[in-house]
Amino acid sequence: MHSEPIEYEKPASLREFESIYAAKAEDAKILSGGTDLHVLIKEKLLAPRLLIDISDLPELRGISYDPVRGVTIMAGTKIAEIERSPLVKEHAPALAFAAANLGSNQVRWMATMAGNICHASPAAETPPVLLAHDCELLIARQGGERTLPISRFFLSYRKTALETGEYVKAFRLPPLPARAAVSYRFKGLRKAMEIDMLNIGAYLELGEDGTSVNEVRLAMGSVGPVTYRAVVTEQKLKGMRIGEEFFAAACDGVVQEATPIDDVRASAQYRNRVIGVLTRRALEECLHRIGERRG
Ligand SMILES: Cc1cc2nc3c(=O)[nH]c(=O)nc-3n(C[C@H](O)[C@H](O)[C@H](O)COP(=O)(O)OP(=O)(O)OC[C@H]3O[C@@H](n4cnc5c(N)ncnc54)[C@H](O)[C@@H]3O)c2cc1C
Repeated sequence: MHSEPIEYEKPASLREFESIYAAKAEDAKILSGGTDLHVLIKEKLLAPRLLIDISDLPELRGISYDPVRGVTIMAGTKIAEIERSPLVKEHAPALAFAAANLGSNQVRWMATMAGNICHASPAAETPPVLLAHDCELLIARQGGERTLPISRFFLSYRKTALETGEYVKAFRLPPLPARAAVSYRFKGLRKAMEIDMLNIGAYLELGEDGTSVNEVRLAMGSVGPVTYRAVVTEQKLKGMRIGEEFFAAACDGVVQEATPIDDVRASAQYRNRVIGVLTRRALEECLHRIGERRG
């Protein structure tokens, strides 16, 4: 780690950003809101030679919706804009809720969802909801783009699938089927400005009869080195009928698949007890939302 002064560049266009990043990615860090990055630099956990500030690039801002592709959120969109967006509230209310619970108002007006996922903390607010939505990431570099399901983005603690020179350009949340909903639940040590000790995003899709389970996704945070889906449990729940047996199987399943540790926020034992409770509440909320959507 070097102790040289850090250079700073603020490109005026996406094209200029891509060209600088392509040339200097090895030594550079992308600066979006800076709410994680500045902390790491100040604590001397990171010492990049160059910061490339993309916080004001108009090409990376905005939220749109179309019925085929769903909701698209550009990477530089502020968490506060996601929290307030009528499109997000209508088509992805659990994401609006998660955004509203990230940090403080001041933090939310600086922070971005791209920064939230690229920092890759297992306790982060938005990854469980994005995993529950089966979000697709648009990843770009100078001269090319690729898409990646978010389920393949988090590789290990603070490590993502981004390759050198790549950046996150946009998030796509596919449209929800008629009998489906997503919910988000979290537990922290206090009501605001806390890092979650546990969180979960749930997706529930019912069959035409309204009681059989077509598909479930359960994405857990703070119970392992990354936020991840309880895929074994998800498979077991497919085809079951909504009822006590279903909820019990979901709660037991996530406890089996969770691998929490003891840390400053909670013991592993406590997390194992509470993750099942959060799972039940999240699935109940999905059911409630499905009921509301069907009127
Ligand atoms: C007081 C305080 C409270 C907080 N509370 C919470 C909380 O409750 N929940 C929570 O989840 N987080 C919380 N955070 C952490 C932080 O605010 C979030 O993780 C935030 O979303 C980070 O976004 P950012 O735009 O500020 O990222 P930055 O700090 O700018 O960047 C973070 C990382 O992502 C990389 N990056 C940024 N954008 C891109 C991109 N487009 N492509 C590739 N890489 C990129 C950066 O290079 C860096 O490595 C808190 C932080 C503070 C200071």
